[in-house]
Parts: sequence; structure tokens; C-alpha cells
Amino acid sequence: MLCKSRKESDEIRILRHLNNRMTLTEKDKQHFLNLAKGYEGEVLFDSLTEKLSCECYNLNDLLLQVGGTLFQIDTLIILQGTIYACDVKYHEGDYVYETDKLYKKPRIEVLDPLLQLKRSNSLLRQLLNKLGYHFALESYVVFNNPQFTLYQAPLNKPFIFPTQVNRFLQKLDSTPSKLSSKHKQLADKLVSLHITDSPYRQLPFYEYGKLRKGLTCSKCQSFEFHVKGKNCVCKDCETLEPVVSAVIRSIEEYKLLFPNEKVTTNVIYEWCKMVTKKRIRAILQENFTAAGGHRWSYYE
Ligand SMILES: [Zn+2]
Repeated sequence: MLCKSRKESDEIRILRHLNNRMTLTEKDKQHFLNLAKGYEGEVLFDSLTEKLSCECYNLNDLLLQVGGTLFQIDTLIILQGTIYACDVKYHEGDYVYETDKLYKKPRIEVLDPLLQLKRSNSLLRQLLNKLGYHFALESYVVFNNPQFTLYQAPLNKPFIFPTQVNRFLQKLDSTPSKLSSKHKQLADKLVSLHITDSPYRQLPFYEYGKLRKGLTCSKCQSFEFHVKGKNCVCKDCETLEPVVSAVIRSIEEYKLLFPNEKVTTNVIYEWCKMVTKKRIRAILQENFTAAGGHRWSYYE
């Protein structure tokens, strides 16, 4: 049973918009692509864990804290006797494991997933003890990209490779498990302790004046997205979307990028382009709550 779902972080969403509206540095772009790729792998793993039919609680994407130290758990599965914590790695390509280090071929050292796993495992154990739960805890690094190969893979490490993911889940599924109110309490407690505002966010500096303005296609992000009557049409992928929905989407994007700025008719008119001020005003009035006085009204 799903107790906590995963959603795309604000960091990925902001970076995606920035990548579309300005030129990111190579480093920022790489950071964005890594995050997006990691998220893709996690969602792929979720699509498998959600099919588990044994009695279990699934908690996806937890950011927790114990004694002032933060740690992240990609996937937590609570069964009657054991808690499984998985760190999902969507690495693609050929890797080598050598003297307790992981390299991408030919020889680029990447962050050791075992170090991360040990750390989060130990912190999770501390937290569980602190909360008064003494379940067995097993932690794994799940490599779930079918295009991943690890040379010199060690036998004695808690790695689950692409060809083993299904068997791993089948094993969980066939483990006898009967959940009680104690398990439910633990799941609820962990969900309530989840920290939503990640302090790990790495965003480049950006400002309104330097961002490209205009409505963008919801499917391919193209700016070739033109108003035709009641709809917007994408010249690149032919996606059709009602103007109202495209403008609302664009306003949400503006609010995400500039959470401290006021949403006014003039600002949104400039931000969306191509849509008349009259139409923008009507959309704002109908879909957002007006605040402030008459002439200076803004929307929330
Ligand atoms: Zn498109």
C-alpha cells in the first residue's frame, strides 16, 4: 500500500523552465540532466514496487533528519518483520568496481553508492531506535537502468542489478507479512517527519529580465506555441491546448520561478506575450483570488 508518493521536486521543475528560457552553464545543465535522469529511474522503480501484492507499506522519497543530520531514502518498504530501504541508481553505461570505488569507464570516479547507503542506513536505524521501533533493517543499492553494466562486481555487497530487480521484488512479495497498527503508526510517523523543503537545492542565479518570455508547449516546451481562437497550437509537435489552460500553466510557472513577486495583469501579459491584456485579466479574475486594492490588485 502506498503511504507516500513521489513527485518531481521544485528544483527539477525550476531548472527545466530555466533551461528553456535562458542558457544554463554546462555545469548547471549537467546538474539538471542528472536530477531528471535520477527521477526517471526512481519513477521506474516505483512502477514496480507499487505492484507488490504482499502486505506492505511503500514510502517513496523521504528526506528525514536525526540529531540535526539530514538523510534521504529513495524507497522504503515496510514488511511485517523487516524494513527495506533502497537507494535507486539509474546509471547508464559501463562501470568498474575497484578497491571499494566505483568508476565510469574509462576512469571517472563517481560517488560511492555504498558510502551513501551506509550513512543513510545508520541514520535511519538511529531514527527508528529513537522512535522506539526495533525492526530489522536491510538496505540496498538498486541499479535499475537496463543499459547498466558493472565490471568486477563484488559478490558481497548489497547491490541489486538490473537483471535482479524483478527477483528481488518477487522475494519480498513471497515473504509472509501481516501488518499491524504498529507498522501503520511507523509509516504515518515517517511521512509526518518528511522534510519538504530540501536545503540541498542547487539553482543558478536568474532574473526576470534575462528570461525569454512567451507561452510554451506543455509537451515539447517549444515557443512556437501560437494562439488560434480559443486554443494554442504547437507548430513543432501539433499539441493543442485551450488558451486558458496554457495561460494558467504559464502563471504557475511564473509563481514557481518568482515566489516573492506579485502576480498582476501587466506582469502576466508581458510574461505570456501573444495573449491580449483583456483575456489575461479575465483568466486571472476567474482562476485566482484577487488581493490588494482596486488599481493595484494582484492575484494569489
Ligand atoms: Zn510542442
